[in-house]
Amino acid sequence: MEGMSTSLAKLQQALTVEARRNYPNLQGQTARFADFVCEQLAILRLTLMPNPSIRARLSQLADGFARYEALTPPERATLIDGLLGLMPYLSGPRAEVALSAPTGMLNPADASRLASRVREQAPEYARQQTPRPAAVQPAAPQPQAPAKGAAPRAAKPVAGEGLDQAVQWVKGVGPRMGETLAKLGILTVRDLIGHYPRTHLDYQSRTKIRDLKVGEKVTVWGTVRKVEAFSPPRKPNMSIMSVTITDGSGSVTARWFMGKANRFQLEQFKKRFPVGGQVLMSGEARHDEYQGRLFFDRPELELLGEGGEEDSDSLNVGRIVPVYPLTEGLHLKGLRKAMHTALDTFGPLIKETLPQEVVSRCELIGRREALAAIHFPKTMAEKELAHRRLAFEEFFWLQLGLAFRRAQLRKTTEAIALPANGELTNKLLETLPFTLTGAQQRVFDEVRADLASAEPMNRLVQGDVGSGKTVVALLSLLVAVENGYQGALMAPTEILAEQHHKKFVEWLTPMGIPCALLLGKQGKRERNQYLKAIASGYTPIVVGTHALIQESVEFQNLGLVVIDEQHRFGVKQRATLRTKGRHPEVLTMTATPIPRTLALTMHGDLDVSVIDELPPGRKPIQTSWVTGKGRKSAWELVRKELSIGRQAYIVFPLIEQSEEMENVRAATEEARTLQNEVFPEYRVGLLHGQMASDEKEAVMRAFRDHELDILVATTVIEVGVDVPNASVMVIENAERFGLSQLHQLRGRVGRGADQSYCILVTSASSEATKQRMQVMVATNDGFVIAEQDLKLRGPGEFLGTRQSGLPDFMLADLAQDTALLEAARKASFELLASDPDLARNPHVKAELYRHFRSNLGFLGIG
Ligand code: ADP
Ligand code: MG
Repeated sequence: MEGMSTSLAKLQQALTVEARRNYPNLQGQTARFADFVCEQLAILRLTLMPNPSIRARLSQLADGFARYEALTPPERATLIDGLLGLMPYLSGPRAEVALSAPTGMLNPADASRLASRVREQAPEYARQQTPRPAAVQPAAPQPQAPAKGAAPRAAKPVAGEGLDQAVQWVKGVGPRMGETLAKLGILTVRDLIGHYPRTHLDYQSRTKIRDLKVGEKVTVWGTVRKVEAFSPPRKPNMSIMSVTITDGSGSVTARWFMGKANRFQLEQFKKRFPVGGQVLMSGEARHDEYQGRLFFDRPELELLGEGGEEDSDSLNVGRIVPVYPLTEGLHLKGLRKAMHTALDTFGPLIKETLPQEVVSRCELIGRREALAAIHFPKTMAEKELAHRRLAFEEFFWLQLGLAFRRAQLRKTTEAIALPANGELTNKLLETLPFTLTGAQQRVFDEVRADLASAEPMNRLVQGDVGSGKTVVALLSLLVAVENGYQGALMAPTEILAEQHHKKFVEWLTPMGIPCALLLGKQGKRERNQYLKAIASGYTPIVVGTHALIQESVEFQNLGLVVIDEQHRFGVKQRATLRTKGRHPEVLTMTATPIPRTLALTMHGDLDVSVIDELPPGRKPIQTSWVTGKGRKSAWELVRKELSIGRQAYIVFPLIEQSEEMENVRAATEEARTLQNEVFPEYRVGLLHGQMASDEKEAVMRAFRDHELDILVATTVIEVGVDVPNASVMVIENAERFGLSQLHQLRGRVGRGADQSYCILVTSASSEATKQRMQVMVATNDGFVIAEQDLKLRGPGEFLGTRQSGLPDFMLADLAQDTALLEAARKASFELLASDPDLARNPHVKAELYRHFRSNLGFLGIG
């Protein structure tokens, strides 16, 4: 969890620094600020499931940052301001944990700490916005404001022992460097040692320039021949920097294409790598198609002898050297030296934190050894071992924490046992027009086992669109009814509630079981009738929207609540629904597939069941990808489908808030053009975000009832809306959507027995777009797509090989380390099973608290 707040703090710091520098789109020396932000936002969007308005705002901002380079400084300022304002709501997995747990877990202290941090920075930021004199200073050192990101911690003096001593105790770290380190949140020796390298450079094995090969990761060493840094006259918003070196065997150029840099920055670059200087260049050689030769694209570049040190400095040359995330005024070599000294001096104080049994069973190296090797490995293999050990630990503490909390909750939460006798469920299974898929059966069995036990259920059912969650929901509700209780299903919109109700009535009527429906828009009489029937217990099953949780709704005996599309509801709404019975069980469902690693990380204290099989006979949606030129063929396909009585969706992406009106106008325009010029013979409807919700529902209903042939939509069409007659979807500007989002959208078609189609239209055809679109074309499996999405959007240049970037972790990589996560989860669960209160492992318990208390307080017990 630590990593999350660190990562948010880093994001925040980056935003503030960028503002302070007058929006150069630079991060550190060479990386693009906007790339970093986009990446962080992508990660946040992938891992966060806060309320929909925050999500929507996040994607708007992401769109903005994707175009950051093309924006004017005031526009950039607005974007940054917007994101800073959102920071307090982005407390990450915590927010998610809070949402998915039965009781509110969001630690208010934590949220307010984050919020006050933002407030603290706000005035500072406002000051920075006043125009500066033209001569841009290199962000003047803050007078006596040491820790930007870490201000709250820095305020409290560090007076610990051993590893908890102030970092100034490390020989060679003076007060000034101490202050600089504090900017990175490094206050103690422990913090310093925990500041892992973002990558390593292997200077042991140098390659001759002559022997360079495309795609190989190597290091070359040479003399600077030429250095350039300029903005192309035609593209003033861009800057190009390059360094050409030679080593006697040949020469090679390193290049950076960057956002706008000011003249001062360009000069700085040239000064850093003077002609004649010795440099190490490390990266992957690429082929330059225009010049027909190899070059390095944004390699790691290091000037030897920088800072007046000897070239032969053994910490910097001839071995595998660490590269650290830095900050203003902190130099790599100084930090390397400090780190080395710290490990030398304090290494013996580093203690094993994991149970010895876990260390040996999981074949991990010791903690002390691992920390030494993560910084200064002797071989790359040793680095891997260190990495494995430390990543394991990150997973282990998280999983143990979640499991521990869950165990404590179980002890304090009452629950009813609902053993199934099969009386009603079997009857339903007999009358259904289909048999359950294996996956549905398995998931229902899992739910049934939870219900039968006296412990509170804490289960999330994940199933791709169309996997058949509704019938599993009904079966579960019937188990409650078999036990003499009522069951309720809550859906996020009226359309969805109506849809569920219709299905339920269809299935329940033959069994003679009544089912009530509660909607906000209902007339008083209808509503009162239902309310009476619910209060008296006459209707054992109730479907509804938020209307279910209004005060006037009283159940006779509520035993189970199923929440569909759980992330669409707030913690409070769900908690209220629970209060409608004495201790009703809660089952949540979602159609948003997330990779197992993310699921375990975000819902580690939930049981997750996956319906990973579609009902038989479904034809996979045929997906194709065209660029703008191919749009004609898309219209032809739409026309063909319409001509045989089917319906179509045409989707436009969401555009930023500031342009929303324009966007609506554009979509309205598009809809009109489509109606008048492209499809005059068909009925075209329009759905966009500016419409009132009853207007939206009316349009959706018209489409459902086939009063419209084509639905043009600007916003995401409701998840779960089932119009089986819609057989084709065209998605415009598909490159703007995340893969998972595209998949969700695409799921609106392919719901009937006939072949359905999805056409992705992109305006760009970059390599990244191509790769992403090909994933969509290649598979219909939401989980595969989610995993690809995670991989493709994963770590980028800025984070380098320190990968992950995933908020939670410093080293662990959720896209790669699945097996390690499973091992850590297993080990932590086993430990807790054998020692539920950790009474026999006091040092493990202490370490667990140390990990969580400061950031999360969620253990808050004992
Ligand atoms: P989702 O998981 O997206 O909510 P639904 O529950 O709406 O999916 O199911 C999609 C469609 O598949 C519905 O029309 C449903 O009746 C049907 N269905 C569900 N289970 C099966 C099955 N085992 N065999 C055939 N059809 C099924
Ligand atoms: Mg559904």
